[in-house]
Amino acid sequence: MTHVVDPAETLAGYEVWFLTGSQGLYGEETLRQVEEQSRAVHAQLEGALPVKLVWKPVLKDADGIRRALIEASADDKVIGVTTWMHTFSPAKMWIGGLQALTKPLLHLHTQANVTLPWSDIDFDFMNLNQAAHGDREFGYALARLGVRHATAVGHVSDPRVQQRVANWTRAAAGAAAVRELKLTRFGDNMRYVAVTEGDKTEAEIELGVQVNTWAVNELAEAVAAAEADTAAVDALVATYQQDYDVDPSLRDGGDRHQSLRDGAAIEIGLRTLLAQNGSAAFTTNFEDLGTLKQLPGLAVQRLMADGYGFGAEGDWKTAVLVRAMNVAGAGLPGGASLMEDYTYDLTPGAEKILGAHMLEVSPTLTTTKPTLEIHPLGIGGKDDPVRLVFTADAGEAVVVALSDTRDGFRLTANVVDVVPPTAALPKLPVGRAVWEPRPSFPVAAEAWLTAGAAHHTVMTTAVGLQVVEDFATMVGTEFLVIDEHTSERGFRDELRLQQTWHRLDRGF
Ligand code: MN
Repeated sequence: MTHVVDPAETLAGYEVWFLTGSQGLYGEETLRQVEEQSRAVHAQLEGALPVKLVWKPVLKDADGIRRALIEASADDKVIGVTTWMHTFSPAKMWIGGLQALTKPLLHLHTQANVTLPWSDIDFDFMNLNQAAHGDREFGYALARLGVRHATAVGHVSDPRVQQRVANWTRAAAGAAAVRELKLTRFGDNMRYVAVTEGDKTEAEIELGVQVNTWAVNELAEAVAAAEADTAAVDALVATYQQDYDVDPSLRDGGDRHQSLRDGAAIEIGLRTLLAQNGSAAFTTNFEDLGTLKQLPGLAVQRLMADGYGFGAEGDWKTAVLVRAMNVAGAGLPGGASLMEDYTYDLTPGAEKILGAHMLEVSPTLTTTKPTLEIHPLGIGGKDDPVRLVFTADAGEAVVVALSDTRDGFRLTANVVDVVPPTAALPKLPVGRAVWEPRPSFPVAAEAWLTAGAAHHTVMTTAVGLQVVEDFATMVGTEFLVIDEHTSERGFRDELRLQQTWHRLDRGF
């Protein structure tokens, strides 16, 4: 497979198959009408989706169904299938196919017409338009087989239905991007940190991602080679000066200009090595920087903005999430970034979380022009690193953490409202976001702690909770939501239910 990182290009390489169920019993004329209506429904839906929706011939028997679902499973481009039982498609015919299917499934419960032709309706119409019970028969098969899936209900001309299917498609794209992801860790986990650890073999089993480690000095060598390519460094520095408000000391002729050139060389070296590895995600570790001159800050920020996944301190699980949400959100306003719950404003009733990281927050969280600055970094013992400084735009966001429970993985998601900072932050030299978690700070923080969810998250402002939930269903992790409906007791019960169910679901 070629090395594609750009989220839009990644989506352009994917397709979803549109499958329609019926059976041979109806005869040629009815099946001709089924096909015509199936094509019309497909045509109404395809323009609303972020990936290509491929119409497939109506499925009428067990052999054809099994073959179609095996082909969908075998084709790397196919990230999922939608199924609609236009007529009655006896569900025993679907058993073999559903058992062979390895891709996400969306049950599209719709019909060709919006309104009933009340005054004209006859039994031919009834015979042709019977998804109301055909899809119930199919739903039984999905439930009986325990097929993980999502369901979209309503006419495909309804924007709500289109949005539902689009969200599922984005989640499927994120899951596919993780399945084909090769993640490069520069160095290991930060010493003694627990939550950033995890079972990398289990990750490959459940999520598909390959997580491997490279010596940081291989990166340092690539950076040294980049330093020697002065033309490439010149060109990148010129890009910085165009894209950001660059601190005068860093500009051409400024007394700290060399630090910006060093930052540019780190970016070039990083891109080179990741391309060689075919990686669309990576981690760094500030305790293990080898001969690198600075902790990669600006470079990491720009790579996340280009669609790479990233986690700091060896946190590959968060890097996986950043990559997944970068792909899921392709083409939408907003972005995805590593985030860390850093410090609080505990004013009662008006509590706020100030999130940031040492350096590595993606500028896709803002529509303003970041400033490019240089400041000392107390830890790491290296040169002062260059970094982009900005404040995330206000609006709805979701923060998502992935923890290893030893029985598998747990995704915890909190719907939050990013708000403007209470006052300007003139002395805070990092990209940051300020937010209020739903339903309230005390309930959300208690639930988060109870779930053992990480301090590192992906913050996504491009996609919402439904995409995250569909993603969790597809990859098969535990999934815990903290939002406006959460209560302390309800959350504890849900946590026990998820733990119990997942332990049973894994088998013995
Ligand atoms: Mn951290």
